[in-house]
Amino acid sequence: MTAHAEPPAISMANVRAASRLLGAVGAVDLERLLPHLRPVELVRGQVLFEPGDDVVVTHFPTFRTMVSLLIVTRDGHEVEAATIGREGAVGGIVSAGSKPAFGRGVVMIGGSALAVPTAALETIKDTSPRFAELFSRYADSLLAQIMQSVACNALHSAEARCCRWLLATHDRAGDKTIQLTQEALAEMLGVQRTTVTGVIQALETKGLVRHRRGGVEIIDRAGLERASCECYAAVEGHFALMLPQVAL
Ligand SMILES: [Zn+2]
Repeated sequence: MTAHAEPPAISMANVRAASRLLGAVGAVDLERLLPHLRPVELVRGQVLFEPGDDVVVTHFPTFRTMVSLLIVTRDGHEVEAATIGREGAVGGIVSAGSKPAFGRGVVMIGGSALAVPTAALETIKDTSPRFAELFSRYADSLLAQIMQSVACNALHSAEARCCRWLLATHDRAGDKTIQLTQEALAEMLGVQRTTVTGVIQALETKGLVRHRRGGVEIIDRAGLERASCECYAAVEGHFALMLPQVAL
Protein backbone atom coordinates (compact mmCIF):
# COMPACT_ATOMS: atom_id res chain seq x y z
CA MET A 1 0.00 0.00 0.00
CA THR A 2 1.36 3.45 -0.86
CA ALA A 3 1.28 6.35 1.54
CA HIS A 4 -1.52 7.86 -0.52
CA ALA A 5 -3.74 4.79 -0.55
CA GLU A 6 -7.25 5.27 0.76
CA PRO A 7 -7.76 3.81 4.21
CA PRO A 8 -10.23 0.91 4.29
CA ALA A 9 -13.75 2.29 4.38
CA ILE A 10 -15.55 1.83 7.67
CA SER A 11 -19.28 1.91 7.26
CA MET A 12 -21.87 1.78 9.98
CA ALA A 13 -22.99 -1.63 8.73
CA ASN A 14 -19.41 -2.97 8.85
CA VAL A 15 -18.95 -1.76 12.39
CA ARG A 16 -22.26 -3.23 13.55
CA ALA A 17 -21.38 -6.60 12.01
CA ALA A 18 -17.91 -6.65 13.54
CA SER A 19 -18.50 -5.52 17.13
CA ARG A 20 -21.60 -6.40 19.13
CA LEU A 21 -20.98 -3.59 21.60
CA LEU A 22 -20.64 -0.95 18.88
CA GLY A 23 -23.62 -2.56 17.17
CA ALA A 24 -25.72 -1.46 20.15
CA VAL A 25 -24.70 2.21 19.72
CA GLY A 26 -27.48 4.42 18.33
CA ALA A 27 -27.16 5.67 14.75
CA VAL A 28 -26.49 9.31 15.63
CA ASP A 29 -23.74 8.46 18.12
CA LEU A 30 -22.17 5.84 15.84
CA GLU A 31 -22.09 8.40 13.03
CA ARG A 32 -20.09 10.68 15.32
CA LEU A 33 -17.77 7.85 16.32
CA LEU A 34 -17.05 6.54 12.79
CA PRO A 35 -14.39 9.11 11.82
CA HIS A 36 -12.39 8.17 14.94
CA LEU A 37 -12.47 4.39 14.41
CA ARG A 38 -9.38 2.82 12.92
CA PRO A 39 -9.20 -0.85 11.86
CA VAL A 40 -6.15 -2.60 13.33
CA GLU A 41 -4.77 -6.14 13.28
CA LEU A 42 -3.83 -7.51 16.66
CA VAL A 43 -1.40 -10.41 16.98
CA ARG A 44 -1.42 -13.04 19.69
CA GLY A 45 0.69 -11.98 22.66
CA GLN A 46 0.56 -8.30 21.76
CA VAL A 47 0.43 -6.12 24.87
CA LEU A 48 -2.16 -3.33 24.56
CA PHE A 49 -1.20 -1.77 27.88
CA GLU A 50 0.85 -2.50 30.95
CA PRO A 51 -0.04 -1.70 34.55
CA GLY A 52 0.59 2.02 35.09
CA ASP A 53 0.13 3.01 31.44
CA ASP A 54 -2.20 5.82 30.50
CA VAL A 55 -4.67 4.08 28.23
CA VAL A 56 -5.22 6.59 25.46
CA VAL A 57 -6.61 4.10 22.92
CA THR A 58 -9.63 1.87 23.46
CA HIS A 59 -9.82 -1.35 21.43
CA PHE A 60 -13.01 -3.06 20.35
CA PRO A 61 -12.11 -6.66 19.44
CA THR A 62 -14.05 -7.66 16.33
CA PHE A 63 -15.21 -11.05 15.01
CA ARG A 64 -13.07 -13.74 16.70
CA THR A 65 -10.40 -11.59 18.31
CA MET A 66 -10.02 -11.97 22.07
CA VAL A 67 -8.12 -9.96 24.64
CA SER A 68 -7.38 -10.88 28.25
CA LEU A 69 -7.10 -8.56 31.20
CA LEU A 70 -4.37 -10.00 33.37
CA ILE A 71 -3.18 -9.25 36.85
CA VAL A 72 0.60 -9.44 37.05
CA THR A 73 2.42 -10.29 40.27
CA ARG A 74 5.89 -9.04 41.22
CA ASP A 75 7.48 -12.41 40.50
CA GLY A 76 6.12 -12.32 36.97
CA HIS A 77 3.10 -14.60 37.31
CA GLU A 78 -0.05 -13.52 35.57
CA VAL A 79 -3.65 -14.60 36.10
CA GLU A 80 -6.58 -13.73 33.93
CA ALA A 81 -9.23 -11.45 35.46
CA ALA A 82 -11.46 -11.03 32.40
CA THR A 83 -11.87 -12.20 28.82
CA ILE A 84 -13.07 -9.70 26.23
CA GLY A 85 -14.26 -10.38 22.71
CA ARG A 86 -16.60 -8.74 20.22
CA GLU A 87 -19.16 -8.10 22.98
CA GLY A 88 -16.84 -5.63 24.66
CA ALA A 89 -14.00 -3.15 24.70
CA VAL A 90 -10.60 -2.95 26.33
CA GLY A 91 -8.99 0.05 27.95
CA GLY A 92 -10.34 3.28 29.34
CA ILE A 93 -13.82 1.91 29.88
CA VAL A 94 -14.15 2.69 33.55
CA SER A 95 -11.29 5.11 34.16
CA ALA A 96 -11.93 7.26 31.08
CA GLY A 97 -8.35 6.64 30.01
CA SER A 98 -6.80 9.30 32.18
CA LYS A 99 -5.83 7.06 35.06
CA PRO A 100 -3.14 4.41 35.00
CA ALA A 101 -4.18 0.92 33.91
CA PHE A 102 -4.31 -1.54 36.79
CA GLY A 103 -3.75 -4.71 34.81
CA ARG A 104 -2.14 -5.85 31.58
CA GLY A 105 -4.16 -6.11 28.37
CA VAL A 106 -2.87 -8.92 26.16
CA VAL A 107 -4.20 -10.28 22.88
CA MET A 108 -5.11 -13.94 23.43
CA ILE A 109 -6.58 -14.75 20.01
CA GLY A 110 -5.24 -12.49 17.27
CA GLY A 111 -7.35 -10.83 14.61
CA SER A 112 -9.03 -7.57 13.74
CA ALA A 113 -10.13 -4.84 16.10
CA LEU A 114 -11.33 -1.27 15.95
CA ALA A 115 -9.17 1.26 17.77
CA VAL A 116 -10.48 4.62 18.91
CA PRO A 117 -8.84 7.41 20.93
CA THR A 118 -10.34 7.10 24.40
CA ALA A 119 -10.79 10.90 24.40
CA ALA A 120 -13.16 10.63 21.42
CA LEU A 121 -15.30 8.12 23.33
CA GLU A 122 -15.35 10.45 26.32
CA THR A 123 -16.47 13.43 24.23
CA ILE A 124 -19.47 11.49 22.94
CA LYS A 125 -20.28 10.18 26.44
CA ASP A 126 -20.33 13.78 27.70
CA THR A 127 -23.05 14.76 25.26
CA SER A 128 -25.06 11.55 24.87
CA PRO A 129 -26.59 10.02 28.01
CA ARG A 130 -27.61 6.96 25.96
CA PHE A 131 -24.05 6.37 24.79
CA ALA A 132 -22.72 6.91 28.33
CA GLU A 133 -25.28 4.47 29.74
CA LEU A 134 -24.27 1.74 27.28
CA PHE A 135 -20.66 1.98 28.48
CA SER A 136 -21.71 2.17 32.14
CA ARG A 137 -23.69 -1.01 31.66
CA TYR A 138 -20.74 -2.63 29.91
CA ALA A 139 -18.42 -1.56 32.74
CA ASP A 140 -20.84 -3.11 35.24
CA SER A 141 -20.82 -6.40 33.31
CA LEU A 142 -17.03 -6.36 33.17
CA LEU A 143 -16.87 -5.73 36.91
CA ALA A 144 -19.24 -8.66 37.47
CA GLN A 145 -16.95 -10.90 35.41
CA ILE A 146 -13.93 -9.81 37.45
CA MET A 147 -15.80 -10.27 40.77
CA GLN A 148 -16.88 -13.75 39.73
CA SER A 149 -13.29 -14.57 38.80
CA VAL A 150 -12.21 -13.80 42.37
CA ALA A 151 -14.63 -16.41 43.71
CA CYS A 152 -13.84 -18.82 40.90
CA ASN A 153 -10.06 -18.70 41.38
CA ALA A 154 -10.42 -19.14 45.15
CA LEU A 155 -13.12 -21.80 45.34
CA HIS A 156 -13.44 -23.86 42.19
CA SER A 157 -11.41 -26.76 40.86
CA ALA A 158 -9.00 -26.36 37.97
CA GLU A 159 -11.21 -28.69 35.90
CA ALA A 160 -14.41 -26.68 36.48
CA ARG A 161 -12.56 -23.41 35.83
CA CYS A 162 -11.05 -24.79 32.66
CA CYS A 163 -14.57 -25.73 31.44
CA ARG A 164 -15.82 -22.23 32.26
CA TRP A 165 -12.94 -20.70 30.36
CA LEU A 166 -13.41 -22.94 27.30
CA LEU A 167 -17.14 -22.09 27.18
CA ALA A 168 -16.56 -18.34 27.45
CA THR A 169 -13.89 -18.52 24.75
CA HIS A 170 -16.09 -20.64 22.50
CA ASP A 171 -18.86 -18.01 22.81
CA ARG A 172 -16.51 -15.23 21.79
CA ALA A 173 -14.24 -16.87 19.26
CA GLY A 174 -17.00 -18.93 17.66
CA ASP A 175 -14.60 -21.71 16.65
CA LYS A 176 -15.03 -25.21 18.02
CA THR A 177 -11.26 -25.41 18.25
CA ILE A 178 -9.76 -23.01 20.76
CA GLN A 179 -6.34 -22.08 19.39
CA LEU A 180 -4.37 -21.94 22.56
CA THR A 181 -1.50 -24.07 23.81
CA GLN A 182 -1.67 -25.78 27.18
CA GLU A 183 1.11 -23.48 28.43
CA ALA A 184 -1.03 -20.46 27.60
CA LEU A 185 -4.11 -22.06 29.13
CA ALA A 186 -2.15 -22.79 32.33
CA GLU A 187 -1.09 -19.13 32.45
CA MET A 188 -4.68 -17.95 32.01
CA LEU A 189 -5.90 -20.19 34.81
CA GLY A 190 -2.91 -19.51 37.04
CA VAL A 191 -2.03 -23.20 37.43
CA GLN A 192 0.89 -25.45 36.51
CA ARG A 193 1.15 -26.72 32.96
CA THR A 194 0.96 -30.31 34.28
CA THR A 195 -2.37 -29.49 35.97
CA VAL A 196 -3.81 -28.34 32.65
CA THR A 197 -2.52 -31.47 30.91
CA GLY A 198 -4.30 -33.61 33.53
CA VAL A 199 -7.50 -31.58 33.23
CA ILE A 200 -7.59 -31.80 29.44
CA GLN A 201 -6.96 -35.57 29.64
CA ALA A 202 -9.84 -35.96 32.12
CA LEU A 203 -12.18 -33.93 29.91
CA GLU A 204 -11.05 -35.96 26.90
CA THR A 205 -11.85 -39.21 28.73
CA LYS A 206 -15.36 -37.87 29.41
CA GLY A 207 -15.75 -37.14 25.69
CA LEU A 208 -16.09 -33.38 26.21
CA VAL A 209 -13.00 -32.13 24.37
CA ARG A 210 -10.22 -33.40 22.14
CA HIS A 211 -6.62 -32.31 22.43
CA ARG A 212 -5.34 -30.82 19.16
CA ARG A 213 -1.91 -29.64 18.24
CA GLY A 214 -1.80 -26.07 19.59
CA GLY A 215 -5.40 -26.13 20.74
CA VAL A 216 -8.42 -27.80 22.29
CA GLU A 217 -11.45 -28.89 20.29
CA ILE A 218 -14.87 -28.78 21.94
CA ILE A 219 -16.74 -32.03 21.28
CA ASP A 220 -19.68 -31.86 23.68
CA ARG A 221 -20.70 -28.29 24.47
CA ALA A 222 -23.67 -29.27 26.66
CA GLY A 223 -21.49 -31.68 28.64
CA LEU A 224 -18.89 -28.96 29.11
CA GLU A 225 -21.60 -26.68 30.51
CA ARG A 226 -22.55 -29.37 33.01
CA ALA A 227 -18.91 -29.86 34.01
CA SER A 228 -18.29 -26.12 34.43
CA CYS A 229 -18.66 -24.31 37.72
CA GLU A 230 -21.63 -21.96 38.16
CA CYS A 231 -19.44 -18.96 37.25
CA TYR A 232 -19.95 -19.33 33.50
CA ALA A 233 -23.76 -19.09 33.70
CA ALA A 234 -23.61 -16.40 36.41
CA VAL A 235 -21.43 -14.06 34.33
CA GLU A 236 -23.23 -14.62 31.03
CA GLY A 237 -26.62 -14.32 32.75
CA HIS A 238 -25.71 -10.95 34.27
CA PHE A 239 -24.40 -9.74 30.93
CA ALA A 240 -27.66 -10.72 29.23
CA LEU A 241 -29.63 -8.78 31.86
CA MET A 242 -27.44 -5.67 31.60
CA LEU A 243 -27.00 -5.66 27.83
CA PRO A 244 -29.56 -7.96 26.18
CA GLN A 245 -28.90 -6.40 22.77
CA VAL A 246 -25.16 -7.16 23.03
CA ALA A 247 -25.14 -10.62 24.68
CA LEU A 248 -23.57 -13.37 22.58
ZN1 LIG B 1 -16.03 -20.86 39.00
